[in-house]
Amino acid sequence: MSKNISAVKKLSRNLWWSWDTDAKSLFKNLSPLLWERVNHNPVELLRHISADELEALCSCELGVTIDQVSKRFEEYMADKNTWAAEHAPQLVSSPVAYFSAEFGIHESLRIYSGGLGILSGDHIKSASDLGLNFIGISLFYKEGYFRQYLNHDGWQIEDYPLQYPESLPIEKVTTEDGKDLIIEVTIAQSTVFAQAWSLKVGRATLYLLDTNIPANEMHYRDICSRVYGGDQNMRINQEILLGIGGIKLLKALKLEPAVYHMNEGHSAFLTLELLAGELASGRSFEEAKAKVKEQCVFTTHTPVPAGHDRFSRDMMAYTFSKYLTLSGMEFEEVMRLGAENPADTSGLFTMTVLALQLSRCANGVSKLHGEVSRDMWKHLYGTDDSKEVPIGHITNGIHTKSWSSGFTERFWRQHAGNIEELFASRESAEAVLSKVSDSELWCLRYHLKRHLMDYISRYLSNQLYHQHQYTTPFKPCDSSRSAKSALSPDVLTIGFARRFATYKRAPMIFQDLDRLNAIVNNPNMPVQIVFAGKAHPHDDAGKEYIRQIVEHSRRPQFLGKVVFLENYNIGVAKRLVSGVDVWLNNPVRPMEASGTSGQKTVLHGGLNLSIMDGWWCEAYNGTNGWSIGHGEEYDNYDEQYRIDANKLYEVLEHQIIPTFYERNEHNLPVRWLKNVRNAIATIAPVYSTDRMVKEYTMRYYLKEPRA
Ligand SMILES: *Cc1c(COP(=O)(O)O)cnc(C)c1O
Repeated sequence: MSKNISAVKKLSRNLWWSWDTDAKSLFKNLSPLLWERVNHNPVELLRHISADELEALCSCELGVTIDQVSKRFEEYMADKNTWAAEHAPQLVSSPVAYFSAEFGIHESLRIYSGGLGILSGDHIKSASDLGLNFIGISLFYKEGYFRQYLNHDGWQIEDYPLQYPESLPIEKVTTEDGKDLIIEVTIAQSTVFAQAWSLKVGRATLYLLDTNIPANEMHYRDICSRVYGGDQNMRINQEILLGIGGIKLLKALKLEPAVYHMNEGHSAFLTLELLAGELASGRSFEEAKAKVKEQCVFTTHTPVPAGHDRFSRDMMAYTFSKYLTLSGMEFEEVMRLGAENPADTSGLFTMTVLALQLSRCANGVSKLHGEVSRDMWKHLYGTDDSKEVPIGHITNGIHTKSWSSGFTERFWRQHAGNIEELFASRESAEAVLSKVSDSELWCLRYHLKRHLMDYISRYLSNQLYHQHQYTTPFKPCDSSRSAKSALSPDVLTIGFARRFATYKRAPMIFQDLDRLNAIVNNPNMPVQIVFAGKAHPHDDAGKEYIRQIVEHSRRPQFLGKVVFLENYNIGVAKRLVSGVDVWLNNPVRPMEASGTSGQKTVLHGGLNLSIMDGWWCEAYNGTNGWSIGHGEEYDNYDEQYRIDANKLYEVLEHQIIPTFYERNEHNLPVRWLKNVRNAIATIAPVYSTDRMVKEYTMRYYLKEPRA
């Protein structure tokens, strides 16, 4: 194998490439068509290209690119001069173990569902960039999260294409004598076996546990078939595997983490396995609890009581009876760890309660969510004063390099040298922006919108083509067929894409169809809207929202002006956030714990229009986007819906649309671009996972937290 070929193969096996523009272009240039067809998966791409072809391709100018990219990759991997080496050397010698039920690293690795996974993926990437010794723990979901199709009626159809290990950059973890490393966990009366896979994410490693192996009884093989699939029983089994299996894996690997980070309550059973270890070394239950608590930190993401994972007492008894006997724990003692009221263990076992009780610190994911969480859990701390509740907040961010498109990154590189410098601080962003003229900024926006419009046109062709496969009897729909080419880069473009959880209220902008008609079809100031998003397979109300939007998009007045793109995922998200002018977010406050998608838009010069919820409460300053209302909350859902919708229309009609279409003598929207500059300077440097992981490190990961 030539040096070039082995270099390309090596690059394909570390997800570092997923946030390096040149590495991505390199793979794409091997075969642009195949690159699309394999969903941007370099391992799969290389399986389709013969050694002869690869050798021939690599000997031309691609060879030079390979050299350059490989050199940068090797330098990155070897760099000892990192932020962590300087600020947290303890965490270079001992790892942080970060547990999450999902990781959204790239669209080609379908082990995520939504925002929680994207956050974990961005967290591990920044941890790598900053030089932390960082280990992620999750599950290998062979079927992943579903692929969404829409049938002719706009109803969501779920499909679960399999992902095969040989097509992914994952390796089997082996023991010292070369055998597969198999982890055992006790579930109910059975022993369940899990194969461990490892995955390189820059300098960090992600381990994935997989029960789909012949050693298991049939019904345990598909514990991790699907992300959040199945019933409560499946759920508890997944969580045992993640938490208890994860700790066993770390032990088998002889790793001794400095800290265990539970990203959401799904992994909180890890504390039981840590307790079991402490009890085995002769400690009392109280001593063991104190010891475990010292080592764990917890991030909660759910601002409503009903959203937290809970298991019935019966299910706990059934699932844990053997495990608890083996590890010398009393059932009642364990139930108390997860009881909302410690004096009463007859009720449900709450994962968040377990996590809160057994971690040395805990946080919500925005300032507002911190407040909401303190209030929601104050009864656990025996106080009426939520200020006394020891839950802080660290606001979520995004991994900047992952979310800036190649085009955007090249643009900023021309002006700033590199994107890290641009977004290092507000001051540096302002300094760079002062070198960019309005016409250059507007040119960037036009390019990105043109890319998006072309993308949508191709995407919809494809979508309409197979929509007929899900339609019986066959009903041709020429009207929606003509929709695909109608979007225009001249038109103010609004994007709304996220999970279709009902609290996000996706159809809000359709509340008053006549008013929306007047907005969209104003001949001088038209508007177009792009939607995307998946509803959880069990969430019929969410699916109904999708159906309604698809139906609206087919009304004559909205045809070609409102579109719904199916199968929202990281790849679709990257396109949407870079091309739209306005990113719309209208959840029921305060249910959006943070949200991150609007942060992605800003890197590309897009602006946010959002309810005052989650991260936007902190970021909005009056000149860097728009707010819907001022953070009002109502007890009546319908009333709140109507009032918020009305405010949404008002901001659009009186502020956003006129500002966008107001042009100076050079046809530039000067006031609009001023907002864009303010957004980039005030948001991009702050709402990044680099800032976020630094905060986690200084305040949560280090034993003696520093300010
Ligand atoms: C960023 C992102 C999310 C999270 O978006 P929210 O604004 O938090 O709802 C969800 N899914 C995908 C694919 C994303 O890229």
